[in-house]
Amino acid sequence: MTILKNSDEIENLKAGGRILAGVLAELKKSVRPGVKAKTLDALAEKLIIKAKATPAFKGYQGFPASLCVSVNSEVVHGLPGNKVFKSGDLVGLDCGVKYRGLFTDAAITMGVGQLSPKAKKLTSVAREAFFQAAKIIKPGVTTGDIGNAIQVFVEANGYNVVRALVGHGVGRQVHEEPKLPNYGTPGTGMKLPVGVVLAIEPMVVEGHYQVVTAKDNWTVITADSGLAAHYEHTVLVTENGCEIITKL
Ligand code: MG
Ligand code: MG
Repeated sequence: MTILKNSDEIENLKAGGRILAGVLAELKKSVRPGVKAKTLDALAEKLIIKAKATPAFKGYQGFPASLCVSVNSEVVHGLPGNKVFKSGDLVGLDCGVKYRGLFTDAAITMGVGQLSPKAKKLTSVAREAFFQAAKIIKPGVTTGDIGNAIQVFVEANGYNVVRALVGHGVGRQVHEEPKLPNYGTPGTGMKLPVGVVLAIEPMVVEGHYQVVTAKDNWTVITADSGLAAHYEHTVLVTENGCEIITKL
């Protein structure tokens, strides 16, 4: 089956993307010291259902929550569990929505209270790396071009990109082809035509890019316990470039 989305699917993806953007914007307002990650997870689920959508992550491969909450050295797939935010924490919120049968995926990383300058810089580099990638997208760009744009920008800032986890196609499933590493060589990989929908998600670490899975079997953490930041949007390749469909 083609990975290209037809115009009906694209309209529904855009509607789902707006729902997801609204959910993340609401969650952001609730991140402060003393708040429990599972309170945010419950809020995410409530907001998604209120919008007549379905939490895409809950039950996906057995994941028990609607929201991934990854704190400090946790990169992605953080279980909300009993985490309580404290000032200075770096919090990644990753959420997925299924709307009219189609999936969108987005993540932000933000500070709780006052962030250290290095945590602040890491967060902005992860975010900016996404926009460096979005900037070069147009029909014919390759997955290697996108990975290279992310990697070059991140490494020029003195950080590293995680290798073990990648961005991905999205839409009919939570994860579909093509795989989209956050590193790569220009001109290599799959050439992207109009109508491809991608979750582009730089995962940026201050230290070595090696990661390990925590004892909870879900949360991915840096092997050297260095800080990590993650930023993600669902993006549609268009005639003129790309459209970020999970942006408010
Ligand atoms: Mg995600
Ligand atoms: Mg994703």
